[in-house]
Amino acid sequence: NTFAEIDLGEALNLNIRRCKYVKPTPVQRHAIPISLAGRDLMACAQTGSGKTAAFCFPIISGIIKGQYDFNFSNHFDLQIHEEARKFSYQTGVKAVVAYGGAPINQQLRELERGVDILVATPGRLVDLLERARVSLEMIRYLALDEADRMLDMGFEPQIRKIVEQMDMPPPGLRQTLLFSATFPKEIQRLASDFLSNYIFLAV
Ligand code: AMP
Repeated sequence: NTFAEIDLGEALNLNIRRCKYVKPTPVQRHAIPISLAGRDLMACAQTGSGKTAAFCFPIISGIIKGQYDFNFSNHFDLQIHEEARKFSYQTGVKAVVAYGGAPINQQLRELERGVDILVATPGRLVDLLERARVSLEMIRYLALDEADRMLDMGFEPQIRKIVEQMDMPPPGLRQTLLFSATFPKEIQRLASDFLSNYIFLAV
């Protein structure tokens, strides 16, 4: 019932202790081992449940262990970026945030310096793809947070466009983690289109 019992690796565990997270929350306790085992995941979790760390920790851990690239897409991306940045401290993993409504030039300069974790809003990420300033071909992890809210806000076409760019060969490379507070028909469809053989978690 502690983070130390979960195999996240020493560098990340040090950052977790530094940030004074002692016990995993219920969604973390279940989602982290599933993600570390390499399974796709659809999790029903509310804001405040600790869901950001539930997908950040296994991804940061996976990057440290395997040195892969990955991506987050979310409209609360500043909070995710903060979490990703805090927990990748002194691990060699670099997180960059790209959200709409902010000047794109500074985001482009940051991206040019190289990035392991991209935290992005769907609209801004599509913009970057259309400018051919990011490539998603090598994406190893995709976390879609607050999927129901992104659909409510009308971002389904952008999300589909983004995920299509990841479905380049070699296939089976991507692990997908989808978080949503609710699980209506539209989210179930998104899950069956984007996830393979996924575990459904409700906490
Ligand atoms: P979230 O549900 O991701 O928005 O997280 C809600 C709040 O809980 C954030 O301020 C996190 O920093 C904090 N938090 C997440 N996991 C833990 C934990 N295991 N122990 C203490 N605080 C946590």
